[in-house]
Amino acid sequence: MAFTLRGDDVCQRTTPTPISNPYWVAFSSSAAQLIELPLSPNDLPNDQRWLELLAGNTLDVQDRQFSEPISTAYSGHQFGVWAGQLGDGRAILLGDVNSQELQLKGAGITHYSRMGDGRAVLRSSIREFLCSEAMHSLGIPTSRALSVVGSRQSVRRETLETAAVCSRLAPSFIRIGHFEHFASLQNVVRLKELADLLIADHYPECLDSQEPYLDLFKKICIRNAKLVAQWQSVGFCHGVLNSDNISALGITMDYGPFGFLDQFQIDHICNHSDHAGRYAYHRQPQIMHWNMACLASAMLPLLELDHSVDESQTLLRTALETFPVSYTSEWQKLFRAKLGLQSPQDGDVQLIEKLLQAMHDSRVDYSNFFRSLSAIKKNSQVHEIPFRDRFIDRVQIDHWFSDYLLRLQSELPNDEARSIGMNLINPKFILRNHLAQAAIDKAQLDDFSEIATLLQILSHPYDEQMQFNAYAEPPPDGIEAVAVSCSS
Ligand code: AMP
Ligand code: MG
Repeated sequence: MAFTLRGDDVCQRTTPTPISNPYWVAFSSSAAQLIELPLSPNDLPNDQRWLELLAGNTLDVQDRQFSEPISTAYSGHQFGVWAGQLGDGRAILLGDVNSQELQLKGAGITHYSRMGDGRAVLRSSIREFLCSEAMHSLGIPTSRALSVVGSRQSVRRETLETAAVCSRLAPSFIRIGHFEHFASLQNVVRLKELADLLIADHYPECLDSQEPYLDLFKKICIRNAKLVAQWQSVGFCHGVLNSDNISALGITMDYGPFGFLDQFQIDHICNHSDHAGRYAYHRQPQIMHWNMACLASAMLPLLELDHSVDESQTLLRTALETFPVSYTSEWQKLFRAKLGLQSPQDGDVQLIEKLLQAMHDSRVDYSNFFRSLSAIKKNSQVHEIPFRDRFIDRVQIDHWFSDYLLRLQSELPNDEARSIGMNLINPKFILRNHLAQAAIDKAQLDDFSEIATLLQILSHPYDEQMQFNAYAEPPPDGIEAVAVSCSS
């Protein structure tokens, strides 16, 4: 819903810079439905007006005019260090469509571009497009992607590449970094406007609260805690969990060098610029908690409107502890469900942790292993269990399977019901890096068919889709554990 704050310290009017000879690369009908866009992929080749709009070449489409495109100011911590002012360096908010904000990423220089060119390359735009839509279909809160528009215009990165514009949708793109921005300017009036806008549009349940800002903080913590638990559950690594990339709505956003786990390695780092592994898979929960501490500190002046400094700090410090509590409870809920365990029992957490340790030790394919668990029956024999031979330490995993089979005896649902439930939480299809790369390689030769195929498969990640079994396979030997660079 509309970002209604105005003023030089908040945003700047920014007209997209046109690109030459735009063409369709990708389009999501499902995202189009969200904004009731009267376009289907079949109409695309004929629809020059929407192409020009989503390329940033016009602000008029049909009877609609986006008369006030803006880029917004935010600040933040990057890799744990205060980075000062950042802002939408290559994102332009066109306006609202059906309660969704429509943003163009890569549509040229903005007031906040600093040394950057305001552009995005084709490769990263395709990755963001596919992953946004894949995450949505996995049931994980995320910004959506409507389209990718390509151009022959070149962009300099490590090599010369071509530019593209990705259009994205979200109820709001407000980040933790927006709060940090106003806090760093010591502008309590703006902080209050920002918090009030979020409450009015996205957290109306805080309206009647005695402590609206404290409640808002808690709710942002809870949403983000649940979000990270979902990431861990499907093996998603964000790659750059800087506070300027963290949503105030608890949605996944700013897809960069993200990756889904192929082989399970608990400390997997997907971003090859992240030398210290700050954003490794197992650190994501702790880092999100750290980002919530940044938010707490930025929101402190709001609490001080009604409380002493000491009281405000105590209230926020206590509220911050809702994060680990919510995270742990969500993580346990999701991982129990991944194992097909309905009612919690003592020992479940140890069972899950032992499995993850064994998977890590043998670098077992994360998604495939969990998916295969649904084939286990209460009366299965350990030696006939699928994937057993993928573990190097057979004694360790046989031990685990014996414990698991014993645990299944106390589950009420029959094998079939349990298996159906497990297949609704353990996806068969995820956006593996090598799949995205294959689609990108083709797109660079002007063949966009693989993007459409992947989009279709990833729209039903929990379905068998037997004809696409090859897309559920781990990467071929030699290209596993690809790390992706930030330079996009
Ligand atoms: P990211 O890590 O992609 O979220 O970007 C971090 C910051 O750098 C944000 O403020 C971006 O807007 C900005 N940025 C990234 N790439 C570019 C670019 N090519 N031109 C201008 N700003 C950029
Ligand atoms: Mg960002």
